[in-house]
This record gives sequence, C-alpha cells and structure tokens, in this order.
Amino acid sequence: MSTLIYGLGESGVAAIRALLDRGEPVTAADANDSDGLRETLKKLGVEGRLGAGPEALEGAGRVVVSPGIRPRDAVLLAAGERGIPVLSEVALGLELLGPGVRTIAVTGTNGKTTVVDMIRTILEKAGIPHAVAGNSWRAMTGCLDEIQRAGLLVLEVSSFQLHYMNEPGFEVAALLNARPDHLNWHASFEEYVADKLRVFEGQGHDDLALVSAVDPVGRDAADEFAAEALVVGEGDTEIRDGRLFLRGAEIASEDEMRFAGVHNHENALFAAAAAEWVGASLEDIRAGLLGYRLKPHRMEIVAERGGVLFVDDSKATNPAAVAATLSSFYRPVILILGGSEKHTDFAEVLPLLDRCRAVVCQGEAGPRIFDYLRERWDGAVIVTSELSEAVEEADRLARSGDVVLLSPGCASFDQFPGYEERGRAFTRYVSGEFVAGHVSERRG
Ligand code: ADP
Repeated sequence: MSTLIYGLGESGVAAIRALLDRGEPVTAADANDSDGLRETLKKLGVEGRLGAGPEALEGAGRVVVSPGIRPRDAVLLAAGERGIPVLSEVALGLELLGPGVRTIAVTGTNGKTTVVDMIRTILEKAGIPHAVAGNSWRAMTGCLDEIQRAGLLVLEVSSFQLHYMNEPGFEVAALLNARPDHLNWHASFEEYVADKLRVFEGQGHDDLALVSAVDPVGRDAADEFAAEALVVGEGDTEIRDGRLFLRGAEIASEDEMRFAGVHNHENALFAAAAAEWVGASLEDIRAGLLGYRLKPHRMEIVAERGGVLFVDDSKATNPAAVAATLSSFYRPVILILGGSEKHTDFAEVLPLLDRCRAVVCQGEAGPRIFDYLRERWDGAVIVTSELSEAVEEADRLARSGDVVLLSPGCASFDQFPGYEERGRAFTRYVSGEFVAGHVSERRG
C-alpha cells in the first residue's frame, strides 16, 4: 500500500522526497491544479492527481496531509470514513527518524518561533549540536539526515501538525499558551486546545513538560502529566523583582536583555528550561539570552521621527499577541489594528486600551473591529480601508514621545502575501530615518 501525500507545498514535497529516498511507494495529490503544480510533479517523477477529490485515495494505505488543509476537506473526510489513517508531515518525520534522536517540541498560540530561536541561540553558545525544523522553519522531512547526525531536534510544531499526530512522546514538550486563533481551521476552541495538549502525549517519567503559570490550559493540564512538569512563572522558575530565575538560579535581570515585554521574558524562561534539560549550563543560557535579539516584525523599531517611535509587530496575528505587545509599552501608543478577517474576538485587547492615544482600524476586518471598539471604548477610533492610509492617519495623530505600533491582531492576506511583506510595507509607508533595533521599553 502506498502513502498518499496530500498537498504539494514545501512540506508535501519534502515528504515525497524522503519516502522516495527510502524506496517506499508514494503517490501525490493536490486539490488545486496549476502549471506550477504540474511542474512540481514532473520534477519529482511521482504519480499524482491534481484537482483531486476522494478518488485520490484509491490504493492509499495512509495519507500525509499538509498543514494548510482543513479537516473538513472532502479527501480527509473520505479517508476518515474509509478508516484510512491520516498523519501530518511532522508525524511522518518522527516515524522516519525512529528512536535515538532527542526532541524538544515547542507549541503555543504565540511565541513559538521566538522560543525556538532562543533555544537555538543558547545551544549554539553551548556548542551543543542540534537541528531546527518544523512550522515556520524548514520542513522536518527535508532534513532528516542532518537531524540524525545532530542527535537533537528543536521542533516548532503547530496545532495543525499536532491534530494528525499520535503519541509523539517528545523528551521535552512546551506549551507556551493557548488562546483563540485559527478557529477558521479548527472546529472549535475545545478542539484547538485538545490538539495543543497532544504535544504532551506519549511522554514518560524521564521527560520534561513545560507550561505557563498564566495559561489556564497548560496550567490545569499539568497536574495530570506523566512527565516532570515545570510551570514557568511559578515556584522557583519565574520573574521576580525584574530578575529571571530558573529552578532557583538567577539567569539575568530584565534590564540586561535586548528585548522587552513580560511575554518575551517568559519566552526566555521556557527556552532556558528546555536548553538546560539537554545540557546547556547556566553560563551558556545567560550568554545566549543576553545576546539574543528578536526576529524581524516582532516589536521591531523601524524608524524614529520627530520623537515618535514606529514599531513593526506585524507577526502579531491574533488579539492575544496584540495584548502581550501593548502591555510592553508605557508611553502613549497609536495602535494600528486589522487585516484579513478571522472573526476573532478583540475582548482581550480592551483592558490595555488605556495605553492608546488612538486606534486606527484598517483592512478587511477594519470596519468590524472599529464598530466593536467604538461601542466599548471612549477613546479615539478611526477606520481606513488600507494599511497605507492607516499609517498616514497614525502619523498625523502622533505626538513626540508616542509610539506608532503596527500590531494588527489579524493575518495579512487581505492586502499582502504574508506578515513579512506587510511589515516591510509598513516600514516603506513610514519612510522616515531607518533605525535598526528592538524595543527595550522601561517603566517610568
Ligand atoms: P509564533 O511563532 O507562535 O507565531 P512568534 O514568536 O513569531 O510566535 O511571535 C508572534 C507574536 O506573538 C509576537 O509579535 C508577539 O506580539 C506575540 N508573542 C510572542 N510571545 C508571546 C507570548 N509568550 N505570549 C503572548 N504573546 C506573545
């Protein structure tokens, strides 16, 4: 029986190559049909169906599905009805890898990329061989040999990938937080939470489970874990008097680090705990975190003009991320919200609006967010159709000492191919003097 790879994106193509390399029978399918996809199939030299429906399942013993495809898709529903197992590309990667590779898996609604990047930085400082893959990094099945050689995998894993995964049994599993997002993919918030918690399935007594004290989902589940549970933000792993402690040992003070925000300092503690488990010393952890800079489009200062700071947080694509970023500022903010519509609830942002001089709503979701805020907040709310106009409005409203913050709380697909392009467009619209750096906001 062959494996059907359904969805010919980056991870699908990597999975096909990995199976072909191992001489395993494989077929391919994609619900779309285009010249590009035909070319992809031709290059791979694999039998495939484009514009495929459930007939693609003929002869398939199992299906490996792309993260973009929703569980309600006709092919996946038919697979379910016929009892054909469906697994994610990461699940296939773990199977092909076999035992013997240590894995740190990081999931959560927000902060995954940052925590993985921090772990990577610490492990590099410590000289501990490792390979990074998953979700926003490269496809796991595309670098199996490298992972095998390193013996340690740092894996960013999304709820989509966890949905089709069975008892992964990670040595270190971290759930950073679980807040409403991607509800256009998952059937409900409950399903989303259940998928996130799968990161802990299959763990044993010798493994480590990391959760956050301020995340009720992880905190509540922690009492039932088979693995050792470490609650970040509780007991001796927490931020106390502006200093970060890991299992009672002080790592650094918040002031020493080049990134701001309680959420990012919490991310640092997750990274520290994971890195320590696989052998990094406290000195390596400290050195790694002190040198760490956030990746672009995350609280990134892109310009300073007339005393106004322009900050690109385009990667904040849900209200919980906006709330985390907003709570990092102590000076007045002109907040730019909006983008493509996911119908998420902005209630989480409301308690932080006292930090805003004004909110400019824009894009497809702009009018809905505008109506929502105007009914609930007395401050200045404006709506524009596009990001370019929103920047103009924000610029007009800003006074010296303010921050103009793009932290949209929505995906970017209404106007841009992705969050990076949206962030770059913001910088162009701002078009002031470019100052490379990241926010290190201090109280007072
Ligand atoms: P992800 O990979 O999960 O999308 P990123 O590390 O790229 O997360 O961060 C995306 C955005 O999420 C950031 O711009 C920031 O606004 C917010 N964020 C980062 N870490 C956290 C956290 N621990 N809690 C809440 N929000 C966070």
